[in-house]
Amino acid sequence: MTDDTWGLVRNDLLKRIGKNNFVTWIEPLRLAAIEDGVARFEVPTVFFGDWVSRNYADQIQSDLKRHGQTVERIEFSLGAGAKPRTATRVPAASAAQKARTTSDEEFRGAALDARFTFESFVVGKPNELAHAAARRVAEGGPVSFNPLFLYGGVGLGKTHLMHAIAHELQVRNPELKVLYLSAEQFMYRFVQALRERQIMDFKELFRSVDVLMVDDVQFIAGKDSTQEEFFHTFNALVDQNKQIVISADRAPGEIKDLEERIKSRLQCGLVVDLHPTDYELRLGILQQKADYYRQQYRGLVISDGVLEFLAHRITTNVRVLEGALTRLFAFASLVGREITLELAQDCLADILRASDRKITVEEIQRRVAEHYNVRLSDLIGPKRVRNIARPRQIAMYLAKHLTPRSLPEIGRRFGGRDHTTIMHGVRRIEELMTTDSQLADDLQLLRRLLES
Ligand code: ADP
Ligand code: MG
Repeated sequence: MTDDTWGLVRNDLLKRIGKNNFVTWIEPLRLAAIEDGVARFEVPTVFFGDWVSRNYADQIQSDLKRHGQTVERIEFSLGAGAKPRTATRVPAASAAQKARTTSDEEFRGAALDARFTFESFVVGKPNELAHAAARRVAEGGPVSFNPLFLYGGVGLGKTHLMHAIAHELQVRNPELKVLYLSAEQFMYRFVQALRERQIMDFKELFRSVDVLMVDDVQFIAGKDSTQEEFFHTFNALVDQNKQIVISADRAPGEIKDLEERIKSRLQCGLVVDLHPTDYELRLGILQQKADYYRQQYRGLVISDGVLEFLAHRITTNVRVLEGALTRLFAFASLVGREITLELAQDCLADILRASDRKITVEEIQRRVAEHYNVRLSDLIGPKRVRNIARPRQIAMYLAKHLTPRSLPEIGRRFGGRDHTTIMHGVRRIEELMTTDSQLADDLQLLRRLLES
């Protein structure tokens, strides 16, 4: 008789919560008994029971009541009968144990780089906000913004900051389950779980962490079922008030082929960007590394001006900067010479040549959009309102003057505009420059930013 009622309740639930949730969370439940006002269900794992209890117990209870059962409370216990469709069957006695060991074993995310700590992170104007936000998250207090979304170009310290957060959290609270992995690894694990029919384990693992960090999330753009799973994982953790930290190479709104609902979810917390490095930050980083190398290669002398020279000339990203210094020290120690400007120029000729400042149209567009506080998509898009059209013309002007691109090439990068449109925009700015001093100032500032 209870089985019949449970059948009816299940039908109600299926209609209300949808097939996916039903298959995942309700189907594996086995109603063991209803006695003394307590409905007892058998569940495959402790986590599973917690989850259903938190999310569906009220509905189950009221549905059971509606179908004439006296139910004051719902309990979940581990049981062999309640095997989720995707998990392997385990004897009842070891179910809890299994849940524990699988989690502990698979819990490990990507390895953390021991060198990526807050101590070794040099703070400057371009990254101070991102650094402050990362510090706040690393304190591990109540979640104040979720997610923390860090974005910025390659080699600007996103991964470094994420590892630093993970280290710090782990030091403060070794019990905390902090899972760090790249979006690519997330996808890989998801696909593997699908293949091996371990989706339940996968969901359980990701929903049982205290802090989830996903690096380079732009990777899942265009990968539909991974996005879907990521979205559910994300929501489940946010609902439980668990901290999430995400990084990407651009702002959420700018990631192509990412579902709108994910974009908007990613924007719900704190979005901070790491700006391209400036001279002071680069010099700071070089000085820190040089101190380290001086200890490693005892006795090596580095002449004045070498670090300044490198900070000035290598502007691409921090990784390249570090690589240059590493090579320089290794080379100098090999040949037993003092590190002079000449040696640097010699030994780093290829890097110096490669990082001869190449400004791209995309960079110009990004800078201009930022400066005038308009969306990048609007800057490139068709809108004609003045407060967007003018910055667009400025970007066209800068693209013409700071890059080697032809007008048709620039047109293509501005949403497929005709080269005559670009020419018109460039001319318009050239005219305005002579009369509008504000505009002239803006142009000068933007030029300097782009050329720094
Ligand atoms: P991203 O993930 O943004 O591409 P990484 O975090 O991998 O960049 O940083 C690239 C390299 O530069 C790493 O070795 C990192 O330690 C170093 N780095 C970047 N920013 C800083 C900084 N502010 N201080 C010290 N090292 C930095
Ligand atoms: Mg990275």
